[in-house]
Amino acid sequence: MTMTDSASDAAHNDSMQNTRPNILFIMVDDHASHAMSCYGSRINQTPNLDRIANEGMRFDNCFCTNAICTPSRAAILTGTYNHVNEVTTLDTPMDNSLQTFPKLLQASGYQTAVFGKWHLGTGPEHCPTGFDDWAVLPGQGLYHNPDFIFKGPDGGTRRTVKGYVTDLITDMSLDWLEQRDEDRPFCLLYHHKAPHRSWEPDEKHAHLYLNEHIPEPETLFDDYSNRASAAEAATMRVGVHMGTADLKCEISSSLSEQELRRWAYQRYIKDYLRVIASIDDNVGRVLDYLDEQGLTKNTLVIYTSDQGFFLGDHGWYDKRFMYEESLRMPFILRYPKEVEAGSANEDMLLNVDFAPLFLDIAGLPIPENFQGDNPRPLLRGETPSDWRTAMYYRYWMHKADHNVYAHYGIRTKRYKLIYYYADTLAQMGAIDETYEPEWELFDLEQDPFELNSVYDDSAYAEIVSELKAELHCLQAEVGDTRYEKDMD
Ligand code: CA
Repeated sequence: MTMTDSASDAAHNDSMQNTRPNILFIMVDDHASHAMSCYGSRINQTPNLDRIANEGMRFDNCFCTNAICTPSRAAILTGTYNHVNEVTTLDTPMDNSLQTFPKLLQASGYQTAVFGKWHLGTGPEHCPTGFDDWAVLPGQGLYHNPDFIFKGPDGGTRRTVKGYVTDLITDMSLDWLEQRDEDRPFCLLYHHKAPHRSWEPDEKHAHLYLNEHIPEPETLFDDYSNRASAAEAATMRVGVHMGTADLKCEISSSLSEQELRRWAYQRYIKDYLRVIASIDDNVGRVLDYLDEQGLTKNTLVIYTSDQGFFLGDHGWYDKRFMYEESLRMPFILRYPKEVEAGSANEDMLLNVDFAPLFLDIAGLPIPENFQGDNPRPLLRGETPSDWRTAMYYRYWMHKADHNVYAHYGIRTKRYKLIYYYADTLAQMGAIDETYEPEWELFDLEQDPFELNSVYDDSAYAEIVSELKAELHCLQAEVGDTRYEKDMD
């Protein structure tokens, strides 16, 4: 039997529709890659997360463009930088009329859902859009017996659900997968609250590490010398800047700052890792479900976090700085149809690149105003000759919460140049107190832990001027504005 051209096209389109890959986007909150065994963690094992890397690809240089929750989430959904989507701080909710990858997937026939952490504003005007179904935590949400807002009219219905938040988000995700229409592809955003502060484990994992000593990071006792004043000013030191809710016990006032830091690190990191052990178990449940349902081959699975985290590195917890531990995002993916098992990639991937990848995988065009680059060739082990070799970063939320000064900067393979402009620039949630700007330069080859800024070292004068030119060029390329004192 022969088919007419149009019948043949229709058959082809049908088969496209049926075979378009599913997308499972697992994003957790504040999980640094140096607490994943597939990234060589010295402090824990994550066997289920490692499955994704072992059966797929590990990206070793994935970076966020602004290391804080709400802005990074907006960059991921919209494929744009924060000066464009205007979600610059924790207090700038996302405009629901912005184009996002879930909206485009939904319009093209994908079944879409998000369960768990949203954190892009609450109330009717900021609830998730572009999803067939959703249930999200209000704001940060709770670890135990949390409230969820379920999809419904007027911004949804709020109700308390009994249980542990990581288990509950997984149950909701599995229930939704179970009731899906098997004839259409799905895109599920499975978004954990964990391991965000205040790191509250469930009973099942509370006993882990009890009698163990967790190795300390190399820079736990950083004294913040040889850098701009921002590092010393930050109020996110393990111990001295924590409370009883963080450490789950009273804090002895008789310890020196160093003794306190050493003691508090053990308390903090053990809870952080216990909370991650629950994520690992639950991701395992979802991977098992994909196997049982025969979905593994045709599903792109991603595991990432909205940014990195300081695990006692530089004596800190939290993120915000452009330093490596907070800039770096874990990013592992599995897509057996196209990605070689156990492979790794060293190219620079950014959070704004995720949306273009999902659209391309779904066979959809990438809108002109999406600023990320499409990393699809990287999945096949093919790096385009013009792939980026430098990235632009900007932290806007001057001084809020942890007294981290507003800054922007550039990272290349070898160097990192940071400009602390230290000004609120009228950003919502930032604190209006301005300081004289300062620069830092790190030679990551010589100084991988970023302990010694060489900005004033005359041996690096030429590098400084080259990097400044490149920074300003990148900044102009993405359409951001240079600070008024950064004009020389
Ligand atoms: Ca976060």
